[in-house]
Amino acid sequence: MTTELEIGLYIFMMAGFLGYHIITRVPPLLHTPLMSATNAIAGISLVGSLVVAGANYGPLSTILGFIAVTCSTTNVVGGFLITDRMLSMFKRSEEQTAQPRRVPFGRVLVTLIVLGAGVIAFLYWFQQRGEGPEWMVHPRLHAETLKYSYILSSALFILGLKGLSSPKYARKGMQAAAFGMLMAVVGTLFHPEIVTYKWIILGFIIGSIVGGTMGLRIPMTAVPQRTALSHSLGALAACLVGISEYFRHHGVLSAVVMIPLGFEVVVGGLTFTGSLMAAAKLQELLPGHPITYKGQNLLNFSLLAVIVGSLIYLVIAPATPVVFQVMVALSFVFGLLLVIPIGAADMPVVIALLNSYGGLADASMGFVLMNKIQIITGSLDGTSGFLLSLLMCRAMNRSVVNVLFGAFGKVEKEKSDQGAEAKGSVRSIFPEEVTALLEDVRSVIIVPGYGMAVAQAQHGVAELAKLLMQRGINVKYAIHPVAGRMPGHMNVLLAEANVPYDQLYGMEQINPYFPEADIALVVGANDVTNPAAKNDRNSPLYGMPILEVDRAKSIIVLKRSLRPGFAGVDNDLYYDPKCMMLFGDAKDSLNKLFAALKS
Ligand code: NAP
Repeated sequence: MTTELEIGLYIFMMAGFLGYHIITRVPPLLHTPLMSATNAIAGISLVGSLVVAGANYGPLSTILGFIAVTCSTTNVVGGFLITDRMLSMFKRSEEQTAQPRRVPFGRVLVTLIVLGAGVIAFLYWFQQRGEGPEWMVHPRLHAETLKYSYILSSALFILGLKGLSSPKYARKGMQAAAFGMLMAVVGTLFHPEIVTYKWIILGFIIGSIVGGTMGLRIPMTAVPQRTALSHSLGALAACLVGISEYFRHHGVLSAVVMIPLGFEVVVGGLTFTGSLMAAAKLQELLPGHPITYKGQNLLNFSLLAVIVGSLIYLVIAPATPVVFQVMVALSFVFGLLLVIPIGAADMPVVIALLNSYGGLADASMGFVLMNKIQIITGSLDGTSGFLLSLLMCRAMNRSVVNVLFGAFGKVEKEKSDQGAEAKGSVRSIFPEEVTALLEDVRSVIIVPGYGMAVAQAQHGVAELAKLLMQRGINVKYAIHPVAGRMPGHMNVLLAEANVPYDQLYGMEQINPYFPEADIALVVGANDVTNPAAKNDRNSPLYGMPILEVDRAKSIIVLKRSLRPGFAGVDNDLYYDPKCMMLFGDAKDSLNKLFAALKS
């Protein structure tokens, strides 16, 4: 007879394959929303947390469950809100002039939250009257409610991710996914083991306030750190539920439960601290450069070996709480040590990878609680994170192993410092001269990069482009898949500045247009334009596909200095006789250009 475990494994695999096919269809344009969407969906750890917080499993479980409910609610509310904020910015040219969409998703989500809170309050009221949830739903309704709400939710999550294959349907898809989440949560509230709603309500309120503030307030430039923070919360929830399950059963667990539980706790623990470290580096609370020391990889591998050894020991002798506690503590330490040697600029790959670990922790929680919706969403989340990290690595011409263990930023910077000079002369130019050049052109390609994000110059870029278009100049935007620090980073920023997405061209689309372009205007991009990637076999960038800016008739680069970008490699483009450097902060330079052109 097929066991629950086998069914779970089948579901896990099928969801992974399905996720792979759906997520490969998501265009680079929507990669940043995809990250936050999977983040929100991964908040499904809420359903497991609700049961732990509301059941009568003992004070330790209640406290851990309450924290887990708070963390997961923050993820769900914040994740869906910020995804919607991003998606609402993606518009086609004709939509720019159209009326703004009628019902803002924020309002819909708030309504859904109020509805959910209403259901909880209703249940709580009955409970206080002493009639108990048994009177209402147990045992008549709960099994059916749970079963059907989970089936419906799974379908809505998959539809939601499918919607991300086009900006046209993305928003509706995410609204469906948010509704799916509500279904799953409401269904879980009828769980037979829930005896009190006190802690659930409190966690729900705190999580909604924190998540809502994060989702509505965080600027688009801080999306990478928010995503990392959100992963850490989701992973912590999974880890805490695992700890609660272990102690609730006093460690008396079969191997079939102990394996996923150990996995849930270890992966959840390391993802929690690793993601916190990543967020702190990106927010510049900690030094962003890789911190390396002798024997680092040896120490990390030894620690991992001890963690794996402890897990194997626990499978054989599960009722050894000391070993369990050591394993949990070491997992937290391992997460920190894993991310310390990685440069802040490599963090997006790490974040995507941690996203996938978070998904695996969620799926493991699903196996422990035998909750199929968690297995499905965990698998979808895991696949999405893993695919995105692979895509990023491919676009950077690097391997995941190199990102994790290579301390890339440091090594390359050292190399570049030795031989950066002596490449020839560089031409600098003033805003007035650029204005004069722009008088006679017919086509301009704008190439945004990380510097545009740093300078928050996206609005200036959009204004300038509009002005050029009003003068009959053909303007296109060239978007490299790894320009900036997140997949799809430039798309989100330009969408925020109301640039229609049909003016954005991917690398393969735009490269044939460069030879026809009178001017390539590079705004804070560096590595993604470096011709050494094509021409210099000794360059660390060699083999990375780039935007062929060097083929334009003339090139104007807006940046502050000749300093290298993320890869720490000098850019040969700046020594090209066709290239002119407009030195200064990109936002200031654009303001000056705009003013000069207007006058
Ligand atoms: P980049 O190579 O990192 O260069 C950014 C440039 O922006 C710098 O050279 C800097 O020069 C300039 N800049 C910084 N602040 C500025 C300001 N306020 N005004 C004007 N310029 C400013 O950026 P990129 O060309 O976008 O390439 C992205 C890099 O990140 C690639 O190497 C990619 O592999 C890596 N990466 C991307 C992702 C992703 O998913 N997008 C993930 C991981 C890694 P100055 O200091 O001289 O101003």
